[in-house]
Amino acid sequence: MLAAAADAPQFDAKRLSDEVRMLSSDGFEGRGPATAGEVKTIEYVVARMKEAGLQPGGDLKDGKRLWTQAVPLLRAEIQGKPALSLTVKGNNETLAQGEQIAVRAAMDGSARIAIKDAPLVFVGYGVKAPERQWDDFAGIDLKGKIAIALINDPDFETGTGDFGGKAMTYYGRWTYKYEEAARQGALGLLVVHETDPASYGWATVKNSNTNAMFDVVRDDPKAVHPALEGWIQRDVTVDLFKRAGLDFEALKKQAQQRGFKAVTLKDATFSADYAVEAKVITSQNIAGRIEGSKRPDETVIYSAHWDHLGVGAPDAKGDTIYNGAVDNATGTAALIELGRAFAKAPRPERSIVFLNVTAEEKGLLGSEYYSSKPLYPLATTVAVINMDALDPFGVARNFTTSGSAKSELLDTLIADGKAAGMAYVTDPHPEAGHFFRSDHFPFAKRGVPALSWGSGNDWVEGGIEAGEAAGKDYVEKRYHQPADEWDASWTFAGMIHDMPLLYKLGNDLANSKRWPQWDKASEFRAIRDATAAQRK
Ligand SMILES: [Zn+2]
Repeated sequence: MLAAAADAPQFDAKRLSDEVRMLSSDGFEGRGPATAGEVKTIEYVVARMKEAGLQPGGDLKDGKRLWTQAVPLLRAEIQGKPALSLTVKGNNETLAQGEQIAVRAAMDGSARIAIKDAPLVFVGYGVKAPERQWDDFAGIDLKGKIAIALINDPDFETGTGDFGGKAMTYYGRWTYKYEEAARQGALGLLVVHETDPASYGWATVKNSNTNAMFDVVRDDPKAVHPALEGWIQRDVTVDLFKRAGLDFEALKKQAQQRGFKAVTLKDATFSADYAVEAKVITSQNIAGRIEGSKRPDETVIYSAHWDHLGVGAPDAKGDTIYNGAVDNATGTAALIELGRAFAKAPRPERSIVFLNVTAEEKGLLGSEYYSSKPLYPLATTVAVINMDALDPFGVARNFTTSGSAKSELLDTLIADGKAAGMAYVTDPHPEAGHFFRSDHFPFAKRGVPALSWGSGNDWVEGGIEAGEAAGKDYVEKRYHQPADEWDASWTFAGMIHDMPLLYKLGNDLANSKRWPQWDKASEFRAIRDATAAQRK
C-alpha cells in the first residue's frame, strides 16, 4: 500500500462520489459538446475549481484569463441517403451505407461529393514510413483515384517486424491512413474492415462513421482529409478483388513485405454522390491553473475530458441519456480534487494547469485543439498526465497506462509506483492502439512527454479475477451505453488510493528543473529535440 509521506495530500471519497454523481446526473444530459449539458457542465466544473482555490487559466480576454478556451469545431453530416456504387467489368452494383460500406461525411470542406467512376488502387497498409524504409505509395499517382487500405500495420498478423510486432504503431490507425491519403493527393481512401486488426466489429465502424462527424476547424482541411473517407466490409472487398481478377489474401501477404507495390484494380471503379452539410459550432475546454513561484512559464498539465455522448438511441430500458459516470466524470472529479490538493499545498516552482477538455468522444478534438493552439507553450510544457475512465471500486495492487510508449515520464511513474508497493502492468492490448485513442496523444505527437493513467486490475479484494470480471462487465454492460451511471455502492477507495501517486508525479516535476524525454527509439523524440533550445 502507498506509504503516507508527511506532505502527502488527503483525498476524500465522499467528495469524489458527489462530483461524479452530479456530473453524470440526468440533468447534465450526457454532457454533449455544444448542448445545454455543456453549459451546465462548465458552470459546475468552474465553480468547483474556483472553490478548490484554482485560478482561471483559459483564453486571454482584455488582459485577463477566462476559465475556458473556446474550441471551434466543424460538424459535418451527410444529407439523406448517399448514392454509392462499384462498377466491375461494366456491371454496376449499389453499396448500402452502413451495411456494406460506411462513408464518413466529408471534412475537407466539400458541400457535395460527386465521384464518377474513379479508379481503385489497393495500397496495402497505406503506410509511408521513411525511417523504416517503407513506402506503400512508391511509383503510384493517386490523383483522382480511390485508395483501398488494410487496417493496422504491416507486421500485426506476423507478429514480428519493423512496426512494433503485434502492438499497433500510429501507422496502423485509420486516422493516419486518411491523413497519408490526403498527403498523397488521393481523391479518397477506403479502409478494409477486419475485426482482429481493427480490434472492434463492424457495428462500431457503422455507429461511429455514419452519423455527424466532428473535426477541429483547420486552416487547410484538404491537407489532412481526402474528399472521400470511409470503411468497406471485408467480404465486399474480397468479392470486389475476385471480380477484378485479384486474390485478396495473396495481396495482403504481399502487403506485409517491404517493397510491396500498389495494385490498380482492372476494370473496377467507384462512384459516389451525396450532399454534406457542414457548420462550425463552438465548445469549450476548461482550464484552472496554479502559477509557479519560480518558473511560471514552465507548465505541468493534468488533463481529463469532460464530454460524453449526450442524448442518443435508447437502450433496452428506453433510457436515452448517456450519463458517462465512469467515462469520464471520474477523471473530471479526480482533476478537480488534484487541483484542490495542489491549491492547499505550498506553491510549486513551475505552473500547473488542470485541463478539462471537450470532444474526446468525437476524436480527441479538445486536446487536439489545445495542442494546436496551446494556452501555454508546448516547448516549455514539462509533461501531460491524463486521466480517463477511472475505476470507482476498491483498491488495486497495480496500475497501467494507455499504450506503453517508453519515456522518462513513464519510467518515473513506474518507479514511484514500485516505491509505493504498486506494480505496473503494460497495456494488456497494445494491438488495439489505445495509446492513440486518449487525450495525451495530441500532445505526444507534438513531442510533449505524455501518458494516460489506467486503474489496475489486480484487486486487493478478489485479485485479478475480480478486477477482470468488473472490467468485462463494464465494457459489456455500460461502456458507451446509457447504463454508465453513478452507483451508490461505489466506494472510490481505489481512486483515493491511486491519486497520491498521480499527485507525486506532477508535484515532483513541478518542483524540479527536470525535462523528461522520450525513449531513444521513440518516434516523438526528434520532435521534442527540435525545441530543446527553449528549455533550460
Ligand atoms: Zn473517456
